[in-house]
Amino acid sequence: MTQETPKQTADWPIEVIRSAKRRKSVSAELKSGVLVVRAPAAMSDDDLAPIVEKLQKRLQKRLRPVPQTDEELEQAARRLNKQYFSGKLRWQSIRYVKNQEKRFGSCTPMQGTIRISHRLAVMPKWVRDYVVMHELAHLKEANHGPHFWKLVNRYPRTERARGYLIAVGMEEDL
Ligand SMILES: [Zn+2]
Repeated sequence: MTQETPKQTADWPIEVIRSAKRRKSVSAELKSGVLVVRAPAAMSDDDLAPIVEKLQKRLQKRLRPVPQTDEELEQAARRLNKQYFSGKLRWQSIRYVKNQEKRFGSCTPMQGTIRISHRLAVMPKWVRDYVVMHELAHLKEANHGPHFWKLVNRYPRTERARGYLIAVGMEEDL
């Protein structure tokens, strides 16, 4: 038996308001986290369902956060380097990669290359900064020993960010 991929379900509760004044058009807008749908009184639920789904998808697409760019990643790394490492760290490249779904990042200190999971590009900046901080610290300390954490903990939101990443199912690099 093959497992069916789960159908994308509604992210918002839906409230349908039917109006006799409406003839054909259906509209949807987000109000305090509820998708308010206005539809003609005469329209059947079966006819309405695909239209709502379409409107919902359109809205989801519009509200999707714009992913940050590699350039912004580089800027964050420079800022953190200056703030927490006296600007002494050097790296070759830092960029988002798509082949790390579970791990938040990786660093190859010998080459000075840092890769950050593309999932971070749409997460809050303070979480992204923690991950950049973590990978920058690996330029000095390859393992996760006490010296490493001493460096990373200079970033005040370290604990909160680690909790956030666990909650979204992301693991630390190894
Ligand atoms: Zn690490």
